[in-house]
Amino acid sequence: MRLKEFSKIPTGPIKMKKVVITREVFSETIELLSTHFDIVANQQDLIFKRDELFDLISDAEGIQTATSDRVDDEFLDAAPLVKVIANTAVGYNNVDLEACSRRGVIVTNTPGVLDATVADYAIGLMISACRRIGEGERYVRSGQWKGMRFKQLLGVDVYGGTLGLLGFGRIGQEIAKRANGFGMRVLYHARSPVDPATEASLNASYVSKDKLLQSSDVVMLILPYSKETHHMIGENQLSQMKKHSVLVNIARGGIVDDKALINALKNQTLFAAGLDVYEGEPKLNPEFLELENVVLSPHIGSGSVSTRRAMAMTAANNLVSVLSHNQAPLNPVNRS
Ligand code: NAP
Repeated sequence: MRLKEFSKIPTGPIKMKKVVITREVFSETIELLSTHFDIVANQQDLIFKRDELFDLISDAEGIQTATSDRVDDEFLDAAPLVKVIANTAVGYNNVDLEACSRRGVIVTNTPGVLDATVADYAIGLMISACRRIGEGERYVRSGQWKGMRFKQLLGVDVYGGTLGLLGFGRIGQEIAKRANGFGMRVLYHARSPVDPATEASLNASYVSKDKLLQSSDVVMLILPYSKETHHMIGENQLSQMKKHSVLVNIARGGIVDDKALINALKNQTLFAAGLDVYEGEPKLNPEFLELENVVLSPHIGSGSVSTRRAMAMTAANNLVSVLSHNQAPLNPVNRS
């Protein structure tokens, strides 16, 4: 080694790359990332103001984000060294992919590890909305129940009904498996049909969106939010649904025009809705709170202990793969 090169070797402690985890995660994720990086973790789960977060990420090379983080040009300007945004979710509509790609920033997500958990929850919301479980619970808790009445809180059957899945990817197909167990007929719509073998194994039929809306007893949304899917379910689509049908949105707020849905629920042109997500969440249209025929949940479709652990570790492993091992990301969603 020539002296010139030798003099380039740093003398003090080796500076590790910095990774910021914007929201609380499980301790094993902190432990994994700490062995590879200098980390800043938000284990108190503070809701940072944008400029507070921008200070933290100003020298970060990796950021483990949550769906509550809006990763846009302004965010990326504040993080000039960032190479990887590891979003702790399968959906990534909170990330401006085009802006990241333009800057060569890799974006990753957490597909696969949450499919069964979200599918279970979707079935739960469907049954709750059809059988008025939330309404019944409120009734009992409020002390109004004075005894069993034959026609009390009658719902609609799940068993034997037709389920229409808008979106038929990883999670949609898991929901179809479960619906088969309830003796439901399964229709689905996406931009393109899945292969015939998958259709046959899930006993599912591809139909147009209009046919799905008109024929289903339960319409369930499980597709990404994008410019293309913004308000995909509005007044026109809701008016095509059967009078006693149920809408379940387990996908993302903004796919449904919430105002139009509230009108349909108020006018009882729909029987009920089950919602895990809202336009502009965590705010939600206060009119939802006044309605008995809607089941409201706080975006917890993937919220089981083991699945949230797996999601956080998947996001962390993407950071390790790129920033520590100089390898390709495990779950890339853009071509940076
Ligand atoms: P996926 O495997 O990518 O499946 C997406 C499905 O949507 C595919 O069938 C796709 O088919 C269809 N699709 C995409 N764009 C469409 C469009 N413009 N019109 C009609 N269909 C369209 O995704 P996944 O893992 O099942 O997750 C789906 C979504 O669920 C995620 O993006 C996320 O937002 C949401 N999610 C919510 C929770 C929660 O906690 N509530 C948890 C997990 C996921 P084509 O490409 O052929 O159109």
